[in-house]
Amino acid sequence: MTGRFEFKLLGRDGAARVGKIATPRGDIATPAFMPVGTAGTVKAMLPESVRATGADIVLGNTYHLMLRPGAERVARLGGLHRFMNWERPILTDSGGFQVMSLAGLRKLTEEGVTFKSHIDGARHHLTPERSMEIQRLLGSDIVMCFDECPALPADRGRIEESMRLSMRWAARSRDAFGDRPGHALFGIQQGGLERDLREESAEALKAIGFEGYAIGGLAVGEGQAAMFDVLDHAPGMLPEDRPRYLMGVGKPDDIVGAVKRGVDMMDCVLPSRSGRTGQVFTRRGVVNIKNARHADDPRPLDEACICPACRGYSRAYLHHVFRSKEIIASMLLTWHNLHYFQEIMAGMRGAIVEARFEAWEAEFHATRALGDIERI
Ligand SMILES: [Zn+2]
Repeated sequence: MTGRFEFKLLGRDGAARVGKIATPRGDIATPAFMPVGTAGTVKAMLPESVRATGADIVLGNTYHLMLRPGAERVARLGGLHRFMNWERPILTDSGGFQVMSLAGLRKLTEEGVTFKSHIDGARHHLTPERSMEIQRLLGSDIVMCFDECPALPADRGRIEESMRLSMRWAARSRDAFGDRPGHALFGIQQGGLERDLREESAEALKAIGFEGYAIGGLAVGEGQAAMFDVLDHAPGMLPEDRPRYLMGVGKPDDIVGAVKRGVDMMDCVLPSRSGRTGQVFTRRGVVNIKNARHADDPRPLDEACICPACRGYSRAYLHHVFRSKEIIASMLLTWHNLHYFQEIMAGMRGAIVEARFEAWEAEFHATRALGDIERI
């Protein structure tokens, strides 16, 4: 692969930004939503189907891939892009967050984290250096710094100590990442809901220098109002000319509120996971396809949606295959959800370019407030 990693800001409307990330594996239009391909697959979707929804980039999870099938094995098989048949950009997380949330018997030291695999109980050690090595073996285009993220609520002392550890790990991550043209390393701002700690973290990261900056430690139980309070100031602490990535967000209204506040990239399992549990996101809010009201309904989920689930199938059919636990239910509902999320992103990009974000946002909320179509 030749070429460089570059971010171009193409327009702005208030704090909202539209831009383009260029990578050797293709461009990423921002604001971007990244579907989560946890273990080398966006569940229930073929890679070409993920692309057809409008996704420019997917996310892979270091924690899952290091445990199974193993980063060295993926590297021997040609890297994650070839392994999962997705040739476009991939962002991998550092493993830190999932070690904290999934693994058993963790031990945290200055050096790193020792933990037991949730799959077979085997002991593993993850450090900034090993996380960089794993993400290099996977062939990730956008690599995340290894960090520690406390669940909220947590007391200020705990958040401060954790943030400072993460900043020391960010410097070690930068050193271990080395010089890799065409690949990017993103620093992760921490500091919980504390504005001065967020500021301290941003300054520490800028002093190290990264190709992009993430806002970490949100969407961990603090609620939307608290998250938006942080996003009212956190993006502005980060460099203007680098992409800003809000990790693990979110619901459609979280995404819109984040973009409004200056976020360029997001990821979340919500559209794909919800597709498998029968929760559907539409312009008019959430539809629960399990609900008996859909059993005789010949109408699509959303008449305006052009995804395969809406073009070819009725609510009655989707209700039936979901209740019957047919695999096609996960496939169709996931496709629709991912399509809808990408439609939100495309809508926001267009609105920012044309400086009508406020009007777009008002319509987004007004349509949702209508609620689902009248029952038949
Ligand atoms: Zn649809």
